[in-house]
Amino acid sequence: MYQRTLLMGFIRAHILHHASQPDGMYGSWMIEELKGHGYGMSPGTLYPILHRLEKDGALKAEEVLVGGKIRKVYRTTEKGEELLEMMKRYIRELAREVLD
Ligand SMILES: [Zn+2]
Repeated sequence: MYQRTLLMGFIRAHILHHASQPDGMYGSWMIEELKGHGYGMSPGTLYPILHRLEKDGALKAEEVLVGGKIRKVYRTTEKGEELLEMMKRYIRELAREVLD
């Protein structure tokens, strides 16, 4: 879907933002969060993005046992923090121009 291609950078920034919080985030929570922001996303779309960010060294995953089930909690690495800061600069700059 072309719309998703356009929005992918925002989705990645949003993922990095929540993964940078002290508690990190996990896949099914992130899907609900994105839904709340108007981005419909299936696990089949989100998980490859998370795995890619992990493979690229922007996220690290920790397996946590919750109610007898393994949950993969994602947090940003130092590299992920740097990428998020960079994206925030572009988002701020772009918003200033296009929203005026
Ligand atoms: Zn959010």
